[in-house]
Amino acid sequence: MAAARPGIAAAEWRSWTWQMQHRIRSAADLGHWIEPGEDERAAIEALATRFRFVITPYYASLMDPRDPACPIRRQVVPRLAELGDPLGLADPLDEVAHSPVKNVVRVYRDRIAFCVNNECALYCRYCLRKRMVGEPEWAMKQRELETALAWIRANPEIRDVLLTGGDPLVFSDDKLAWLLGELRAIPHVELIRLGTRLPVTLPFRVTDALCALLERQHPIWVNTHFNHPRELTAEAAEAVDKLTRAGCPVGNQSVLLAGINDDVETMRRLCEGLVRMRVRPYYCYQAQLLEGTAHFRVPIERGVELFHALRGRTSGFAIPLYVLDTPYGKVPLTYDYLRGREGDDVLVESFDGRIWREPNPL
Ligand code: SF4
Repeated sequence: MAAARPGIAAAEWRSWTWQMQHRIRSAADLGHWIEPGEDERAAIEALATRFRFVITPYYASLMDPRDPACPIRRQVVPRLAELGDPLGLADPLDEVAHSPVKNVVRVYRDRIAFCVNNECALYCRYCLRKRMVGEPEWAMKQRELETALAWIRANPEIRDVLLTGGDPLVFSDDKLAWLLGELRAIPHVELIRLGTRLPVTLPFRVTDALCALLERQHPIWVNTHFNHPRELTAEAAEAVDKLTRAGCPVGNQSVLLAGINDDVETMRRLCEGLVRMRVRPYYCYQAQLLEGTAHFRVPIERGVELFHALRGRTSGFAIPLYVLDTPYGKVPLTYDYLRGREGDDVLVESFDGRIWREPNPL
């Protein structure tokens, strides 16, 4: 359980609005929670105008105050390595070019990502949408939300709408209820998905009132974003439990991050912990070719080996699909268990490397 700091009343600590109002935004604030190293201090200053840092007190309380390699700390505290990334791009998935109207990203025929909000509880250093998060030009004004809704209404092939951002759950209950109501009133929108990291970074946002409003608009699926077993706290488990009791299936989309979760044991503990919380590990993304994130990227072959090593060593449904997102859609990055054909037999490889001949005449 993440502990509130002395001097912070439990009711304040568990209030999501208190957490949002007291977010850490400066090296001095951060110094109340950890001992920032030289690299971190210099990076906070150097990146102040490029990709600022913002952290909830709750998430800060999960950090190791003395270890700069702490996997929680590395996800959100700037590092100088962000300044050296010659290959990185601002928009590696070319999302702007795939947007028929502002903040609606369409790659597939039947579904869209609708970036309803430019704000998050905290800013992940590897965020795919760092060009957008916290940047006023990407905020959606009311009339822009209405323009996007009108576009969805006019495109009857859209059956699945992912509300993302930023984070849609940073909206007030009233605004979210309005948005969900508008979408639910569109007959061809069968499915609404929420992409939110708040169960991880601000679990107190999952209130009874929020769950009641979600329950009125089913089917609503939730995908959240845990990256490390240390994020699987009692508070996060409580948030997920509320969502599942409200009838929302909850999945997890992690990112494979060098030095954070790119070893078999950490990934196994993460996936098994998620399943214990009734969260289905869904995707694990290869970190994108995104500006300032070279130090997070893992060679794809090593990622494939990692998930191959999990196969047969934990429950099959605890293993997420490792994928690379591209401007052409998601590409599964999988080990090839199909070893070819010899006459009437197909050769397949088991999880532990044994070859099985399956009679399978053409
Ligand atoms: S919560 Fe998601 S959208 Fe927000 S900064 Fe992190 S990765 Fe980006």
